[in-house]
Amino acid sequence: MHELSLIQNLLNIVMQSASDNCIKKVSSVALVVGENYGALPDALDFAFHVLTQDTMCAGAALVVQKKPLVLRCRECLAEFSPRGATCRCTYCQAFRTEVVSGRELYIDYYEGE
Ligand SMILES: [Zn+2]
Repeated sequence: MHELSLIQNLLNIVMQSASDNCIKKVSSVALVVGENYGALPDALDFAFHVLTQDTMCAGAALVVQKKPLVLRCRECLAEFSPRGATCRCTYCQAFRTEVVSGRELYIDYYEGE
């Protein structure tokens, strides 16, 4: 379950930043998770609640914002969200595409006092 180590890393960043900013208690943490990142929202939620116990993030809300997968065609440079399992350009049908967004996972913001 890679969500545990993932959340642990993110919490380390949040808690480091919070203590740098004299925040004693974190009330919410917002994440942006790409559709294609491969993290399950339920597993993230579970990991968050387990790992925040007895920390400054205990009881904080986890807000997960999903980001859709967006590809860019290398032939016509159009950006599009793929439909179904194919990554073909929906405009010119080319196969040469690259990922613009949808594979990321990062902290959007956190709140505390
Ligand atoms: Zn194209």
